[in-house]
Amino acid sequence: MSSKQRDYIYYDWTQTLCPECLKLVSTKIIFDDDKVYQIKTCPEHGEKKVLVSIDREYYELCRKFMKRSEMPERWNTEIKKGCPFDCGLCPDHEQHSCVSILEITDKCNLDCNICYSNSSTDGSLKHKSMETIEFMLDQIMLNEINADIVQISGGEPTIHPNFFEILDLAKTKNIAHIMINTNGVRIANEEGFAERLATYMPGIEVYLQFDSLDSNVLKNLRGTDLSEIRRKALAKLEELNLSTNLVIVVKKGVNDHEIGEMINLGLNSKAVRGITFQPVQEEGRLTDYLQDERLTLSEIRRNIIEQSIFNEDDIIPVPCHPDALAMGYSLKMNGEVIPLTRMVDPDILLEGRRNTIVLENDEELKDKVFSLFSTSHSPETAKESLLDLLCCLPQVEKHDNITYENVFRIIIMEFSDRYNLDVRSVKKSCVHIAHEDGRIIPFDTYNIFYRK
Ligand code: SF4
Ligand code: SF4
Repeated sequence: MSSKQRDYIYYDWTQTLCPECLKLVSTKIIFDDDKVYQIKTCPEHGEKKVLVSIDREYYELCRKFMKRSEMPERWNTEIKKGCPFDCGLCPDHEQHSCVSILEITDKCNLDCNICYSNSSTDGSLKHKSMETIEFMLDQIMLNEINADIVQISGGEPTIHPNFFEILDLAKTKNIAHIMINTNGVRIANEEGFAERLATYMPGIEVYLQFDSLDSNVLKNLRGTDLSEIRRKALAKLEELNLSTNLVIVVKKGVNDHEIGEMINLGLNSKAVRGITFQPVQEEGRLTDYLQDERLTLSEIRRNIIEQSIFNEDDIIPVPCHPDALAMGYSLKMNGEVIPLTRMVDPDILLEGRRNTIVLENDEELKDKVFSLFSTSHSPETAKESLLDLLCCLPQVEKHDNITYENVFRIIIMEFSDRYNLDVRSVKKSCVHIAHEDGRIIPFDTYNIFYRK
């Protein structure tokens, strides 16, 4: 036998894309030290090695977070060319829409250089008509019957001339929770705008683009200094106690050192019910992104652990799409912050982490944990689900006085791009965009293939 060995460990095999020509190619998943990579070869464009995770152990843990897929009420396309070219949703898909995104405009009042949707202040871009918007919303409802979350997005949705009419329309549907995905410019600058938005509570949440309070970071990510807009918008939402989720787009070497600071800001803000961290996605206007600077979900998770009160056991994979979503909960009680693992044995949350798996022996408990760790929650339903879990655990003291204002949730959401798309994983995507032709398409594939 020869003494030659590979300098990596071969772990698995899947299908992905050639980032140059977007043709489907097979890829090896390999472990190189503690990191995980795709190694793929396109016959035309050669070999590419793409970082998938900086944490092999966490990558393997994700494979153990599984549950039965929840299906939409109907499919929107047929299987013809194979995944990911049949979106969707086609019958090969493995998750319903936990979050359905309704993009009501292509226009924006900013020109961010990391915009995945290529929206801008360009006058030639259009708002969608009320007729189109109603059609798209109807398609979401036909898929979901009772939709968990509909996120009204854009472009910048608040600049649509019929914005409040669209909110009124959404309120007539069976939607548990409506999110407004906004850059906060109108909330900060326009007297009375946030007050009118607050009249739609409960059941709405502002999904506020935030990123940082540092002018240089904001200029890098958004092309302009939005720090004053950020401060004013958050102050207004605090004043109204309007449920808010801060959205932090993270770029390596730009604002990844501020993750702990953002968590502290959220924990100290009354209206902020959670923070979503998203590594920048190389789609839309972000085309000069260097692969060496790729930031993965696992690296953001590592930063959270190093920079905040959350530890390794607190931030765990979300069972509906574990490769793309991680989540952690804490309670804000009497000025104190208590991460969930300080109340619940981590073995109960981390199924498969060790050999003694509490969840495997208790289906009811497992259902409650999986129900809590889902993206389909609003602040209100997250509270219900958390109480439901805590009540089921004899070792946890009773917390009857918890309201949704006490529950704080961290999500890390990594969308695939043309470099790291994994066909095995993308079938489980649960964040979907309504296309104006009636299709409901996973966010990841929409931005690679299906956006006009
Ligand atoms: S990503 Fe989902 S909807 Fe799209 S082709 Fe694959 S299985 Fe079908
Ligand atoms: S990222 Fe958002 S705020 Fe920035 S240009 Fe795109 S739609 Fe507008």
